[in-house]
Amino acid sequence: MSQINRRAFIKAIAAASTASVLTIPSAHAAGKPKGKVVVVGGGYGGATAAKYLRMMDAGIDVTLIERNTTYTSCPLSNEVISGERDIKTLEVGYNGLKKHGVNVVTDEVTSVDTAKKMVKTKGGKSFGYDALILSPGVEFNYGGVEGYSEALAETTLPHAWKAGAQTLMLKKQLEAMPDGGKFIISVPPGPFRCPPGPYERAAQVAYYCKTHGKAKAKILILDANDSFSKKGLFEQAWKALYGYGSDGMIEWVPGASDGKVLKVDAASKTCFTGFGEYKGDVVNIIPPHHAGKVAKDLGLATFKDKWCEAQPETMESKSQKDIYVIGDSCVGGELATNNGFPKSAHMAMTQAKVAVGAIVAKMNGLPNPVPYYVNTCYSVVAPDYGFSVVHVYRVENNAWVYVKEASGISPITMPDKSPVPKLYRKLEAEYADGWLRNVLADAFS
Ligand SMILES: Cc1cc2nc3c(=O)[nH]c(=O)nc-3n(C[C@H](O)[C@H](O)[C@H](O)COP(=O)(O)OP(=O)(O)OC[C@H]3O[C@@H](n4cnc5c(N)ncnc54)[C@H](O)[C@@H]3O)c2cc1C
Repeated sequence: MSQINRRAFIKAIAAASTASVLTIPSAHAAGKPKGKVVVVGGGYGGATAAKYLRMMDAGIDVTLIERNTTYTSCPLSNEVISGERDIKTLEVGYNGLKKHGVNVVTDEVTSVDTAKKMVKTKGGKSFGYDALILSPGVEFNYGGVEGYSEALAETTLPHAWKAGAQTLMLKKQLEAMPDGGKFIISVPPGPFRCPPGPYERAAQVAYYCKTHGKAKAKILILDANDSFSKKGLFEQAWKALYGYGSDGMIEWVPGASDGKVLKVDAASKTCFTGFGEYKGDVVNIIPPHHAGKVAKDLGLATFKDKWCEAQPETMESKSQKDIYVIGDSCVGGELATNNGFPKSAHMAMTQAKVAVGAIVAKMNGLPNPVPYYVNTCYSVVAPDYGFSVVHVYRVENNAWVYVKEASGISPITMPDKSPVPKLYRKLEAEYADGWLRNVLADAFS
């Protein structure tokens, strides 16, 4: 069996961290596979991992197990709520991965036997592995808000924090809301999936109201946190476009720990918080969440019993050898000062590429490549108004280090303090759409 050579491997890894199209070194695909990798979860993280494993070393046997046949992207799903995007533009299947030679299995993983290195599914199948990649996303803790439940989320109080049917239900509820109605968004304590997501949602709801005869609507954000991602940029945009504050269309109510929504009454659509009661016409509770069930059941959620911790060099679990946990289930970065690296699609994809690099290196007896982690996150607050943030991390002394000089955020003003030209904001909204099409293609085709 031919070995992937060191030079070609390093070249491929360098390309993988920056480019969406990778020039692959040739690897021997015939005969016995070099190793078996099972990937659980076909979202942004899992799909990227499965595809890049095959692209980087076709001698590795890759099985992806995903419970659904179609994936719906959460990024830009807030635009579906405002009617500015068709949900079909967010849907993707798994044929692209099959073309790369990934064995795609539609099933749900129910347990992992780490001693036997075996994954079992609801459908009664078993899959052995040499390396296991878990990218199961998040699991909602409905009990974190008294009176809330999965049944309510699916029928009357959608969280829409997993894109799909609930996103469309929330859109319908917004459409039916009377002028002068109140749309409540409750935000759980961080870290949560997509740090700027609730605030982008508020803007998209406001845009719909402003352009659909609901100018007297109120969007109330009941926040368990004292601050939020891209706060200055959101506040500037809310103020300019919709009115912000107690007199404006959007009002943000920071709360800290006792301010979070503690209870909801579904019948009267009332939220009970540490500082008062709020009745809404539409109530959008984003429940607290934690690592996906399959990872948590395995005991990998060692951070506050909620999130999985991984080795920064490889994304291998800190508590289980040969299991790599990537995407929203993970936590890491500067946890002492903020909520660590963001739970984003972009981050999940970078983590996937780091895990792939580590596995391919290990299976070929090569040194682990030097990893870099990148996040890019766009927020679209109106069709012609977007902004973004970029985070870059390197690894030092087995810890993630934020590389400030390589990171950045859209400006609030120009360097001479003059306003940012409208064209810049418009271009960023366009770039957001381009980013989405790129990441969908990079992960799934
Ligand atoms: C409203 C909203 C807006 C967002 N906007 C952005 C954005 O603009 N940019 C950005 O970068 N990120 C954004 N995000 C965040 C992004 O969606 C997540 O960070 C990303 O999806 C994480 O990828 P993942 O692979 O970890 O999990 P997911 O994408 O959730 O994928 C997990 C997959 O695992 C499957 N699965 C779980 N358990 C099992 C099992 N036991 N067996 C089989 N399959 C299983 C699930 O069905 C799912 O398909 C947004 C999120 C939301 C909610």
